[in-house]
Amino acid sequence: MQDRLIISLEEFPEEGLRLRGELDGSVFDIDTEALRSIGPLVYDLEVQLYDTELMLRGSLSAAFSLRCDRCLHYFDYEVVVDDFTLSEEVKGKIAFDATEFVREDIILALPAYPKCELADTECEINDTFGDFRLDKDPTLGVDSATPSGNSVWDALDQFPAK
Ligand SMILES: [Zn+2]
Repeated sequence: MQDRLIISLEEFPEEGLRLRGELDGSVFDIDTEALRSIGPLVYDLEVQLYDTELMLRGSLSAAFSLRCDRCLHYFDYEVVVDDFTLSEEVKGKIAFDATEFVREDIILALPAYPKCELADTECEINDTFGDFRLDKDPTLGVDSATPSGNSVWDALDQFPAK
């Protein structure tokens, strides 16, 4: 699969070009515990050359596996940029490499705080801690502090295993 989006400017058609295709997901160069590319960068662009200015307009998309910030489960998410535009001065050039521009627009559209809601699913919160609320009403004689008076996390350590 191609890994660069290079537009030849030699004999560029006056009516413009329609460019559709895919770039290998490796162009993102992202593979972390929280974020991983799982598909190609798909582009569908109208390209026009006005004198020495190259104009690109169209849509981009790419699929990622993201880790939910809240519950740490992984979910698939497709980033879609449907209003990509770019205008570049290309005087004297015989080709223009748009790879970095399309890559960057996809990366900028990635959610800063990935949550399961983005994939229309709900977080699977671990219920082990569900009853261990800090907001129990102290007027009922329930000591919301831990026996030692330290933080609730200390109490978790002391919680007897079933
Ligand atoms: Zn979640």
